[in-house]
Amino acid sequence: HSASRGGRDDAVHGRLLADDTRHVLHPWADLSTLGKQDPLVITGAEGVEVVDSRGRRYLDAIGGMWCVTVGYGREEIVEAMAAQARAMPYFTPFGDVANEPAIELAAQLAALAPGDLNRVHFTTGGSTAVESAVRVAHLYHAALGRPGRRHVLSRTDAYHGSTYLAASLSGKQADRVRFRYEDTWVHHLESPGHDADDTSVSAAERLAGLMAGMEAAIDRIGAENIACFVAEPVLASGGVLVPPPGYHQATRELCGRHDILYISDEVVTGFGRLGHFFASQDRFGIVPDMITTAKGLTSGYQPLGAVLISDRIAGTLAETADPDKPVFSNGFTYSGHPVACAAALANIELMRREDICGHVRDVGPYFMDRLRELRSSPIVAAVRGDHLMACVECRVPGESGPTPRNMALAHRVDTYCEAGGLLVRPYENLCIMSPPLVVGAAEIDRIAGVMADALARAEADLRSGTAA
Ligand code: PMP
Repeated sequence: HSASRGGRDDAVHGRLLADDTRHVLHPWADLSTLGKQDPLVITGAEGVEVVDSRGRRYLDAIGGMWCVTVGYGREEIVEAMAAQARAMPYFTPFGDVANEPAIELAAQLAALAPGDLNRVHFTTGGSTAVESAVRVAHLYHAALGRPGRRHVLSRTDAYHGSTYLAASLSGKQADRVRFRYEDTWVHHLESPGHDADDTSVSAAERLAGLMAGMEAAIDRIGAENIACFVAEPVLASGGVLVPPPGYHQATRELCGRHDILYISDEVVTGFGRLGHFFASQDRFGIVPDMITTAKGLTSGYQPLGAVLISDRIAGTLAETADPDKPVFSNGFTYSGHPVACAAALANIELMRREDICGHVRDVGPYFMDRLRELRSSPIVAAVRGDHLMACVECRVPGESGPTPRNMALAHRVDTYCEAGGLLVRPYENLCIMSPPLVVGAAEIDRIAGVMADALARAEADLRSGTAA
């Protein structure tokens, strides 16, 4: 490979590794290996593949981090970013100052969004989009003379980001260690995917149980104290958990009845991953009050997030603005960054031209079918997902859940995948997959094949007593 597309020479590679080990604290790093980490340094990428600093090539079944949707090396996005950086790289977006790509992108997002979600507030990524949406919900209720509506409903297994409030909403206990998160007005409802693999419970029974739990929580907290419900349509990082049929409509209806704002966190599910620009309406039949988006918005070429807000909410904020203090005190230096918005515009154009959403609707079921075949392995507890978001749950036979042995087993599967030229994302006892949306049938076969091989090797280790 040429230097820009892959392998570095040994001296450069050695220095990079040493500097990473000495100086970088990675997001979500394993602290027990801080100062000893052995990073995978990705130096090049093309199509659905990435290359590391040793020149090794991998099929990227992570999609960067759920975000590289149209694949790597898309010159039209790169060109759009370069042209914008040359013309006007940055100027404040505060107050009444605007830039052209941000205006254009807001109009496009409003056209893509369901219902009357026509008002766009740009952020720097997913966490800041979720934070901003909750603040908008608080402002909305305060504007209507009910400042007591501060409580927020979330779910166990949810992931909403890593800033303080977004992390408070996230529901995985494992992610909460050593932090004292807000617990006076954040409430975690039961995860809608909690017993998704338990065939002794019908989907209708699960739905009934979840809704009874949600109604009881609203009764207990008091609807007059609740600002909003924040929900991923399919819970992503918490283990690719798909709620039972009818859940989205039922929760939407319940929230509407109590004037609890419904915030759909589409940071992962938006921009094609489930076969539509937004999954809320087109996949699950609901129109939320707000949608948060990031990641696939730019296909990961630039950091950018947005909150799409209904005209009803924005109109209320405008009509009730305090003449003495009319400022919407929320926003970031890089909200609607021109280069990021230019990347998003080029990305949307490309997605339309190549009908990326249609492609996902075509190959998504095949991807899930190929992965479901892996259930024949005795170390696979479950395969879950929808279209191009999926996970394989590993287990030592007879042992369920994220136990230390099951987590070690998934880690082993992940290591064998990497050796076989496939990158998946290990999380607890799961191997999570969200390939670029342009993935084809042959590449899906490759993913399933390497995964099957990795599972077979890990199982053999288990049998021979060299694992877990
Ligand atoms: N919401 C969801 C559903 C996410 O999956 C993520 C990130 N994985 C976030 C919010 C946070 O986004 P970011 O990391 O861009 O802040």
